[in-house]
Parts: sequence; structure tokens; C-alpha cells
Amino acid sequence: MENVKCLIIGSGPAGYTAGIYASRAGLKPVIIEGMQPGGQLTITSEVENFPGYPKGQSGPNIMDDIRQQSINAGSDIRQGLVTKVDFSQRPFHCIVDDEQEIVAETVIIATGATARWLGLESEEQYRGFGVSACATCDGNFFRGRTVAVIGGGDTALEEAMYLSNLCAKVYLVHRRDAFRASQAMQDKVFKKENIDIQWNSIPVEVLGEKKGFVKSVTGLKLADTKDKSERVLPLDGIFVAIGVTPVTELFKGQIDLDAQGYIVTDKGGRTNVPGVFAAGDVQDPNYRQAITAAASGCIAAVEAERFLNQN
Ligand code: NDP
Repeated sequence: MENVKCLIIGSGPAGYTAGIYASRAGLKPVIIEGMQPGGQLTITSEVENFPGYPKGQSGPNIMDDIRQQSINAGSDIRQGLVTKVDFSQRPFHCIVDDEQEIVAETVIIATGATARWLGLESEEQYRGFGVSACATCDGNFFRGRTVAVIGGGDTALEEAMYLSNLCAKVYLVHRRDAFRASQAMQDKVFKKENIDIQWNSIPVEVLGEKKGFVKSVTGLKLADTKDKSERVLPLDGIFVAIGVTPVTELFKGQIDLDAQGYIVTDKGGRTNVPGVFAAGDVQDPNYRQAITAAASGCIAAVEAERFLNQN
């Protein structure tokens, strides 16, 4: 068993930044990185809106920088997964990798969010065999081929842009007739000749073939939202980019979550349990930017320090 002043669960911009501030406040924070060290930015190609990088920078490079800055400040960053928490009394008992117990005076939750899926049975069947949620991870397998990106937000348009530089053709499939993405991103997409936008279209089935143990995607069946007609796009890969779900399964029944599963916090990142704070996408259904996540990590750490001073 180990006693710590501040345990940070998760390692995106929120977790690492909380580590920078908690370290400088003398809280000697321990950060448990979780399943995807660095968080969602590690699967983002080019980031042009994070201050301090006037020429843009790759997501993984930005996260390497923030992680190193957190270590330099004093964060004790560890690989592992928090598998159980008990917030019923303070200090809080947390279990890492089902075996190691950490007893924390304060906890900052920064577990972020993960990709949402369409929920089709055929999507599930071909996930990892042509259906992906990460263009930067899997785009290379589809060099010179035809793919579809599903969604109309910034992620979908960014993925479509990235893939358009690798693939012969990219269908961008959106369920409405207007994108949700920022105007800057839309302007880029509209200029790309090999991005073919399929408006008012809902994916209804992933089509594929099986040869022995090998499965591959051959097409995507779409339903038109206006006239209900169905059509098939012949293609080799499908990238689903329809938003995210907060990673809060571990905290159900321990702290207040909203109807979508986001942790409910006040302006200071405080949850309903005194001493437990949350930062980043796990508590933010609105902005979900790397910079807002980093800022909320700062706020949570400052409030954790204040809390410890007062208690
Ligand atoms: P968003 O929630 O912004 O967009 C999700 C998209 O998927 C919407 O267009 C939505 O359609 C569509 N969608 C949702 N569910 C379904 C479904 N079941 N079937 C078909 N389509 C569906 O998520 P993003 O991941 O794109 O963005 C998350 C946040 O991160 C945003 O705030 C975004 O601005 C930000 N971001 C910023 C970036 C940047 O600044 N560089 C890069 C990437 C993300 P509809 O529009 O009809 O609701």
C-alpha cells in the first residue's frame, strides 16, 4: 500500500497538465497513464490550434512535450490501469492493475473519452478488418485505395483530409446536409478533389467477404434520409468518426454522472465528492479541445492544493 497526496488517473493534456501544477504545488502527484498514454491526441495527425506551435505540430509530438514537461516538474508517471476506486471515504483507496493499492488524499480524474461506434452488427464483425476509428493508426493500410469516413464533425473532416493524401478516393458520409465541423476545416475539405461528400446518408450495413480466417471490407450500404432509398459504395476501408463517449465506467455509483455519462463538476473541477476532481473530456461535453482539457487540468490541480490546505 502506498500513500499519496494526489493521484491523477489518466494521461491526456488534462492529466499531464494537472501533474505539472500539482508537482509545482509540492503535492508529488502520481499519474497512472491508463490504456492509451497521451490520450486522444496521440491518434491525431496535425494539430494547428494548440498555442505555442505556430506551424502546427503532430498530436503525438505535442503529447510527448507535455508529458516531458510534467516529468520535469516532478510528476511520477506510471504505466498501468486503475481498476477499482472507493470514494466512500477519504483518503480514497484505489487499485492499480488489480493488485497495487494507492491511498490518495485527493484524486484528479482525467480519463478522457473514447471513440463512439455506429452500433451495427456488421461494423462489429469487421472492426480491425477494414473498419477503424483511427485514420492515423490504420490509414497506411489503405494507400491508393478507396475508403469512407463517417461523421460531420471536426474529427471526421480531419480524418478525411488525412486519408485524402494517402487514398485514391475518400467518401465522406454524413447524416445531414450541413457539417458540424469548424468552417476552417470545411473549407479545406471542399477544396479536396478526391473527397466525395455523401450528404443525408446513414450507414446501414458494412459489406465484406471472408476467405478462411481473413476478412475484408468490400462496401458500405447507405440509406438516404430523404427518399429512404439504399445504395452501396464499393470501398476497402471505413473510418468511423462520430464523436466520443466519456470513460467513466469505473466511477459509476461513486460520483455524480450526467445522462450521457460525463462527470458532473463545478467551475473548480470539483465533483460531488470532496477531494475528488475531474478534468478534461471526461467532464466536458461542450468544448473537448486539447487546450481546454489542459486548462481544466490546471484548475483541478490548483483546487486540489487548496482543498488540502483547507482540510
Ligand atoms: P462531434 O460530436 O463534434 O461530431 C460527431 C459527428 O458525428 C456529428 O457530425 C454527428 O452528426 C455525427 N454522428 C453522431 N452520431 C452518429 C451516428 N450514430 N450516425 C451517423 N453520424 C453520427 O465529434 P468530433 O469527434 O468530431 O469532435 C469532438 C470535439 O472535438 C468537437 O468539439 C470538435 O470541435 C473537437 N475537435 C477539434 C479538432 C480541432 O480543432 N483540430 C479536431 C477534432 C475534434 P450531427 O452533426 O448530425 O449531429
